[in-house]
Amino acid sequence: MLIVKKFGGSSVADKERIFNVANRCIEDYKKGNQVVVVLSAMGDTTDELIEKAQSINPNPPKREMDMLLACGEQTSVALMSMAMASLGVPSISLNAFQVAMHTTSKYSNAKFKRIDTDRICSELDLGKIVIVTGFQGINKFDDITTLGRGGSDTTAVALAAALGADACEIYTDVEGVYTADPRIVPNAKKMKEISYDEMLELASLGAKVLHNRSVEMAKKYGVTLVVRSSLTTAEGTIVKEVKGVESMLVSGVAVDKNTARIALIGVKNSPGIAFKVFDLLAKHNINVDVIIQSIGREDTKDISFTVDEAQAREAVQILKENKERLTIQKIMEEENVAKLSIVGAGMQTHAGVAAKMFEALFDVGVNIRMIATSEIRITVLINLDDVDRAMKAVHDKFIDD
Ligand code: ASP
Ligand code: MG
Repeated sequence: MLIVKKFGGSSVADKERIFNVANRCIEDYKKGNQVVVVLSAMGDTTDELIEKAQSINPNPPKREMDMLLACGEQTSVALMSMAMASLGVPSISLNAFQVAMHTTSKYSNAKFKRIDTDRICSELDLGKIVIVTGFQGINKFDDITTLGRGGSDTTAVALAAALGADACEIYTDVEGVYTADPRIVPNAKKMKEISYDEMLELASLGAKVLHNRSVEMAKKYGVTLVVRSSLTTAEGTIVKEVKGVESMLVSGVAVDKNTARIALIGVKNSPGIAFKVFDLLAKHNINVDVIIQSIGREDTKDISFTVDEAQAREAVQILKENKERLTIQKIMEEENVAKLSIVGAGMQTHAGVAAKMFEALFDVGVNIRMIATSEIRITVLINLDDVDRAMKAVHDKFIDD
């Protein structure tokens, strides 16, 4: 078997953990498997490198930022190969250049285009464990790029797809994907399996177990993922295509606290305004999520929507600059809000799921500010202070029923 094993930063945070990972990989290798290991930077290395950069230049050139951040992963793979050598097992570390993992040009948020597999395959054929840097690539200028925070998961999936691997295992410091954040909901359960679509919804909703694009890519290439802990031997959660009949009504509850609400008051009640507002935001790459438009009164209406907290200030600034043209009388921004979502493929075929969620919130006196739905998710915007209570209530209603 060819196995791709990815270990996150916490799994290689210190010497002891590096040897723990080395031994887990060697175990598979000794069983006769070919093993490709993808690593993240050790512990908080990436954050520390970002801080260092900021101390030199608060607005560093993006190219240089990627050049810097790529060092974190390079440290991990070299140390891992040294650890394996000291254990008497042949291995080799490779960075994005040496493998040749080609990406788009965009620094700090590049996407894979093509991965050459020759070098990895020939090293595997020589009987080595191959240890590859996660998170980085090279672009058409032969410059280093990075894939966005958490991008090592995507490296692992891309490699698994390119190599036609038999298994792709993502190791982290939790035992798998849970029905809710166990720190907030103590009776949250580990899922045995979850579909790509559900995982995508959960990933984008702030359940930070997997990088969003890694799930998209796994779905596209049919790579089955296993998410499990590097510190225990517990089984983990399988992410794969799950057929209709097997799907859960509600698989998980997720919270996104990094959200802000923007309200545009007294906008002219005529065609084309919503288009102009959201087109302007889209052109500035501002992601808008839940949207509500009030019923028009006389000749004006209100439009509210949510954006990522990190983009809220920029969004307000852009809207202010265009206030006249967009006929906005007043712009309001509020950050003390959070999105609470339930996700489940079974929703598609069941009525009354939304009502049940709203009932759970009513039972604990939580006010719903906005509502949005997709085929497999229902999201409500609530006050930040209500989040923990709301999450427990909704979780218990669906999952502990
Ligand atoms: N080291 C990078 C980060 O901290 C990539 C990763 O961990 O996946 O975001
Ligand atoms: Mg991660």
